[in-house]
Amino acid sequence: MRIGVLRTPKGRVFARLEGESPRVGHLLDAAPWLGGKPTGETLSADGALLCPVMPSKIVCIGRNYAAHAKEMGADVPAEPMLFLKPPSALLDPGGTVLCPPESAKVEHEAELVVVLGKRAKRVAKEDALAYVFGYSAACDVTARDIQRKDVQFTRGKGFDTFCPIGPWVQTELAYGSTRVQCRVNGVTKQDGTTADMIFDVPTLVAYVSHMMTLEPGDVILTGTPEGVGPLLPGDALEVEIGGLGVLKLGVGKG
Ligand code: MG
Repeated sequence: MRIGVLRTPKGRVFARLEGESPRVGHLLDAAPWLGGKPTGETLSADGALLCPVMPSKIVCIGRNYAAHAKEMGADVPAEPMLFLKPPSALLDPGGTVLCPPESAKVEHEAELVVVLGKRAKRVAKEDALAYVFGYSAACDVTARDIQRKDVQFTRGKGFDTFCPIGPWVQTELAYGSTRVQCRVNGVTKQDGTTADMIFDVPTLVAYVSHMMTLEPGDVILTGTPEGVGPLLPGDALEVEIGGLGVLKLGVGKG
């Protein structure tokens, strides 16, 4: 099942997506992870889909692929390394990542996103997948120079538009062996697999839930494979995670 968000005269509305082209949206009265039910209305979903999540928090995992930790000149962490992005950083598919004037080095990080389906607090790794609604794709956009300068990641990872997610949330995915790709201007820059994650999806959900209560609709960005690199105004950015569709973005000046 694929869940997207459509723009309607009533605002952003969740919908179950059906078909490829044409694509139809069966409207829901709320997010499915909040118990949303079909309204019986349908709408064409061939146009732009909006960000498919409205999370209370965006949890991110740093250095979850050994080859990426190495390219950063960093050690592989013994435990998952957590940081947060603010929900104000979310960006719709088709949107424009804005390079802020405070940074001279904005970079892409293609990442698999886990979307929570139920409230999770101190769940066991063996039970963790029961708390997952589905998966999506994100770019953990990073102002690398600011990240390196600051002790905290908040500023370097938290600018507006630094968290594009989409194009939809999909309930079925081989989360443990899914290809993670990033292309800039059509050139492949990252091409990894979630099989190379140091900490897998169940481990991450369980680990994070032992520190903070995860609410339905919250998201975890699971880290990026090697090959991160610069984004410049005018670039065309694409993130593709397995069968999750292509998250297409522009890059502009902030
Ligand atoms: Mg990242």
